[in-house]
Amino acid sequence: MVDTSVDALIEWLDNSPTPFHVVATAQQLLGDAGFIQQSGLTHEVVQNGFLIRDGSLVAWRKGSKNGALRVIGAHTDSPNLRVQSNPDITQAGWAQLGIEIYGGVLLNSWLDRDLGIAGRVIDRDGQVHLFNVNEPLARVPQLAIHLDREISERGLLLDKHQHATPIWGVHAPVFADWIGEVSGAATVAAFDAHLYDIAPASILGVDESMLVSARLDNQVSCWAALTALVTSPVLEHTVVVVLNDHEEVGSESITGAAGNLLPSLLSAIDRDHGLSDGAVFDMRSRSWCLSADNAHAVHPNYLERHDPRHAPRPNSGPALKLNGNQRYATTARGAAHLRSIAERAEIPMQTFMSRNNMPCGSTIGPITSTQLGIEAIDIGIPQLSMHSAREMCGSEDPEYLVALMTAFAQS
Ligand code: ZN
Repeated sequence: MVDTSVDALIEWLDNSPTPFHVVATAQQLLGDAGFIQQSGLTHEVVQNGFLIRDGSLVAWRKGSKNGALRVIGAHTDSPNLRVQSNPDITQAGWAQLGIEIYGGVLLNSWLDRDLGIAGRVIDRDGQVHLFNVNEPLARVPQLAIHLDREISERGLLLDKHQHATPIWGVHAPVFADWIGEVSGAATVAAFDAHLYDIAPASILGVDESMLVSARLDNQVSCWAALTALVTSPVLEHTVVVVLNDHEEVGSESITGAAGNLLPSLLSAIDRDHGLSDGAVFDMRSRSWCLSADNAHAVHPNYLERHDPRHAPRPNSGPALKLNGNQRYATTARGAAHLRSIAERAEIPMQTFMSRNNMPCGSTIGPITSTQLGIEAIDIGIPQLSMHSAREMCGSEDPEYLVALMTAFAQS
């Protein structure tokens, strides 16, 4: 029995500090549900399976030849601080780690937090060693108010290169030696090492109505999509979940939404079904993609930043995301399709549109629909503090998202 409660999501979040760990967590969930890992696509695609490439994954339940596609997409990456290739710094009696900023980090949120380090080491034989040191190892200390008297008037100003460098000791080891030891790799040819806040995910509020954690954007959607997939029965339609890396930096990579993971899988399934190019075109025009990425909940302290008629509230269901300028892919046809699914399944839904003077971010929806010719619908649960080291959403919305994705897969 698959746990669809917020407790299962909390466990997922705590186990998944990097995209590589998201994929490892997903691998465990899929394996437990009897899904078979494929290493390539030369041979026939199994009925219930998945394929992994670095920090991205595609999983599926194959339907019949006459069925269409129900694709659910989300992204595995979150903005964070990453350890540089030659990171060792010693100055003024402190040992520090040089970092690179990944994606649109809310830098102030990383100050004065106890940070762990997780990632992967590639050894000289090309073997990958995942590691996760969930201990207080490093900290980006904020400057004392006595040394920054203007902060109250002019706000906090941080230089991205100079002021975000963490301290990780006084007599610290060489980073490459340390990472070899903690990962168990005999040699270290290269590494990906991400800093993360070690505070575990938690329920918050006097009424326990909120969930706080790092990486809610977009691991809530990753967890919900796979939970919906493994609990779905075999259907006429083929249900596919794609979890891409690199959304936060534009999706243009081999493991990003513009890469070949999803298109290659779909081609292999079309091949197994013996479909001609024309039949594939027709089948895809009967297909749908649900692109899930968190939306901005209305912020009570900044009401003027939201459009009051399109401002999602907590614990009131996922938000349909609309943008005529195609930052989101949802069309009127897609909106109508999803609203009728939600209504039949009695799942509350809201609508998000940004203000005309407040350009919105984009998602993998427009990229996926452009690449595949499958109409996409952008949705997401509402959250506050997007791209903070610690984000917040309603504690009931993740379960609504699972229910909506489950109903979508069966539509
Ligand atoms: Zn996102």
